[in-house]
Amino acid sequence: METKHLQSRVAIVTFPLHGHQNPMMRLACRLASLGIRVTFFTSKWFEKSAKPSKAYEELIKVVGIEGGLDDNQLNSSNDAIADVLRESEKMRQPFEKLVLADEEENGTPFACLIVDACFPWLPEVRHRFVAGFWASTVACASVMVTLPDLVAKGYLPAQGEKLLSPGANGLALAGIPFYFHTANEEDLRMSIEFGQVLLHPGMSCLLLNSFEGAEKQRIQELQSLLPCPCLPVGPLMATDQNGIARHADRCLEWLDEQEPKSVVYVSFGTLAYVSAKQFEELALGLESSGASFLWVVRPTLVDKQEDVEIFLEEFRKRTSAKGLIVAWANQLQILAHPSVGLFLSHCGWNSTLEAVWSGVPVLAWPLFDEQNVCARYLVHDWKAGTPISDAALAKSGVLVSRKEVRDGVRSGLRDESLRYSMKRASKAAREAVQPGGSSFSSIEKLVLAIKAGSWSS
Ligand code: UDP
Repeated sequence: METKHLQSRVAIVTFPLHGHQNPMMRLACRLASLGIRVTFFTSKWFEKSAKPSKAYEELIKVVGIEGGLDDNQLNSSNDAIADVLRESEKMRQPFEKLVLADEEENGTPFACLIVDACFPWLPEVRHRFVAGFWASTVACASVMVTLPDLVAKGYLPAQGEKLLSPGANGLALAGIPFYFHTANEEDLRMSIEFGQVLLHPGMSCLLLNSFEGAEKQRIQELQSLLPCPCLPVGPLMATDQNGIARHADRCLEWLDEQEPKSVVYVSFGTLAYVSAKQFEELALGLESSGASFLWVVRPTLVDKQEDVEIFLEEFRKRTSAKGLIVAWANQLQILAHPSVGLFLSHCGWNSTLEAVWSGVPVLAWPLFDEQNVCARYLVHDWKAGTPISDAALAKSGVLVSRKEVRDGVRSGLRDESLRYSMKRASKAAREAVQPGGSSFSSIEKLVLAIKAGSWSS
């Protein structure tokens, strides 16, 4: 396994969102750690944030493709997601041209193309071994593939609060990602179209950023639906923090001054936004909890940022002894800090895996997309999270009160059983990527296929 195959070159192309680029860059680093050269394709906008770990900079080249949206155009509304999906369709031809140009320049073809399966296309470059990559939960992939069936049977589009019978493909509405709770037929049509790529005969295998300890049954279910082998390779984590020096990070310095396990870290990822009213309830709940907090407030976190500017300025002043508010944090480093005792999270799949990896219990507040599925894993399956409210777990956009925030933070920080269960989940995640673990052996299979230039089951 540790043999270096410097001649093997792989192209990776990521869907233009942080939640996709981060795990795919970590996969690139994992392959580079085994001596494989990677050309990492992303959108022009995301190129600047696609940073390999320092140790692998020489083996990973980053290339920007025309297309995709920028951070200011991105948010979690269905319209914005539809825009990013539409934009991503346009990235195919530029990608194919860049692949051919890179191959020409290097005098050798790529041994493998690893393509984010969120794109609705596979590259039409002949005679290449193509592996798909799935950045979300395995459960979500299964729903994508079964969407035509769910629509044909009349279960979707969802009619208001209507629940599916538990017998319908084993799914109740509660187990279906929020994104598909839509009554909008156009959104569903587009999801069906995008989901079809998972069934594409040109995909030799599908790599999953998941691990057996988290989704074993789901992986088996997905395998029964897909024509190609499904390989869990996760959780994909950074091996270093892109060389960010500890002393240069204000958050870490601030955390160093706090008591062990006393801080609630609050972050809603890169896309989620809330109303001004919800933002204020959250802030006031944090304040009244009396806990120390580190809160990521992105410039696009509030629907209408200007409505909360004065409130935020006063809040900042009032709580400066207890809290730190930043626009961006190096999340993995924050979660690894011993002062962090709880993660108030929107439960994006990456955030969920990063919490599990770091052993930090989650106060689960799913907002959109498939975050309700992740939250249910945390709360019901792994017992490593507690819901901000039962209503918020069941329905997107429910207003959460300051009291619910206050109580959730207080009890989440105190709850030793959550911490214990999270440690168990964390152990399973780490074992999966160690020699002998299921994700480790998937990477071994992938590397063998890359060496051979084709997949053989
Ligand atoms: N992230 C980060 N710092 C921040 C906010 C987000 O490093 O201040 C990273 C986080 O570690 C994760 C990704 O951005 O890897 C967010 O992905 P996730 O799937 O959790 O949520 P999304 O943004 O896709 O909703």
